[in-house]
Amino acid sequence: MLLYNSLTRKKDEFRTAEPGRVKMYTCGPTVYHYAHIGNLRTYIMEDVLDRYLRFSGYDVLRIMNITDVGHLTSDGDTGDDKMLKGAKREHKTVMEIAQFYTDAFFSDCEKLHIRRPEVVQPATGCIDDFIRVISALIEKGYAYLAGGNVYFDTSKLEKYYVFQDFREEDLEVGVREGVEADENKRNKADFVLWFTKSKFEDQELKWESPWGLGYPGWHIECSCISMKYAGETLDLHCGGIDNAFPHHTNEIAQSEAYLGHPWCPHWFHVLHLNDESGKMSKSKGEFLTVSLLEQKGYSPMVYRFFCLQSHYRKLLVFNWENLDNAAQAYQKLVQRIAALLGTDAAPDGEKKEALLGAFRAAMDNDLNTAQAITVLYDVLKADADAATKLAVIAETDKVLALGLIEAAQAAAEAPAEEIPAEVLALVEQRKEARKAKDFAKADALREEIAALGWEIRETRQGTEITKK
Ligand SMILES: [Zn+2]
Repeated sequence: MLLYNSLTRKKDEFRTAEPGRVKMYTCGPTVYHYAHIGNLRTYIMEDVLDRYLRFSGYDVLRIMNITDVGHLTSDGDTGDDKMLKGAKREHKTVMEIAQFYTDAFFSDCEKLHIRRPEVVQPATGCIDDFIRVISALIEKGYAYLAGGNVYFDTSKLEKYYVFQDFREEDLEVGVREGVEADENKRNKADFVLWFTKSKFEDQELKWESPWGLGYPGWHIECSCISMKYAGETLDLHCGGIDNAFPHHTNEIAQSEAYLGHPWCPHWFHVLHLNDESGKMSKSKGEFLTVSLLEQKGYSPMVYRFFCLQSHYRKLLVFNWENLDNAAQAYQKLVQRIAALLGTDAAPDGEKKEALLGAFRAAMDNDLNTAQAITVLYDVLKADADAATKLAVIAETDKVLALGLIEAAQAAAEAPAEEIPAEVLALVEQRKEARKAKDFAKADALREEIAALGWEIRETRQGTEITKK
């Protein structure tokens, strides 16, 4: 399988240290709020990779951390302490917040058919591991104490900027935003391994350490949790592209300094989901969650389909119109599959393998899910009987996990129900609103229709109304 590697900046043949076995690490969520669908794009694409490796015969050990402590998204005293902010907002303790949003995250994952990794490890459960590794880094001369904190000394490395596209310049952003530089650092790129002094005086969770009462920096948790479960090497490390620098760069720096040898040869990064104005963030505009999509009448499977229609290394632009298009395409696909149901015939093994070959070719080429979906349409058009086509689609859906067969069965069984006049009137009003380009009104009407238990979709043939 060819898979793009951010370290070499090219598509590399994917290899593992041990034949047939993949040790895969995924940076997990920060659990102070609901997951944004932009972050979930990364988890969906990592899930497809995980499933495809299994489909290809690998035994996969997948590890994920849960960031439930510290500054979470920054290694310095920059930004907010989001965990604490979340706790204050909701009048709960930090650990209650962490548990609530960890559960919410996995509930979203379940809805999106994202497999739960074999290992899910909250950072607060590994404080002793962090202290042990940080102590060793100090002993080896890679870390120093300053102003009460322990810092990693990036100047001690031969090569710190391992991802050529992500460098020091990125750090300037914080400075431009008016954040004060940390005077304790010897080098600008140095980062905190352990805090005892922070601008967040009221940090709720603190632990005893050789350097005083404090808490770990963000980067150290991934290195330590990975080593705890995968040992001294990994085969594959995954995350969103915004983690490449500084987070992954720092993970590599401290892991290799600690181990004294290379740590992970293959880095998989998923690009952003943007809105039309640029990068989407939690602080800007509507906070897009799986629940919000559901409220607006979209099945989580439609969002998964929307993500899979695009390559993971391309920016994906989100707007409601694009999601509507994905919803229509998904529904159409399901209906075509529903038309194949009801056959008792055995699939043609030879034809099945030939059709699956095209699917494998797409996925083997840097996880090209967009091409894999094209293959699904080719399968539907192929010169093969219904049983064979269904067998191929069921196989591919082990990887794509779009719930295609289940959705097709549900569609085939659903009895046609008469549409109430009330719903028809709302549909008519929505049509007028769309014509007038009043999309806010059209959205509100869609929700009203959804509340009555009906779903509408725009197709080339006109508006389709179905019972939810
Ligand atoms: Zn990480």
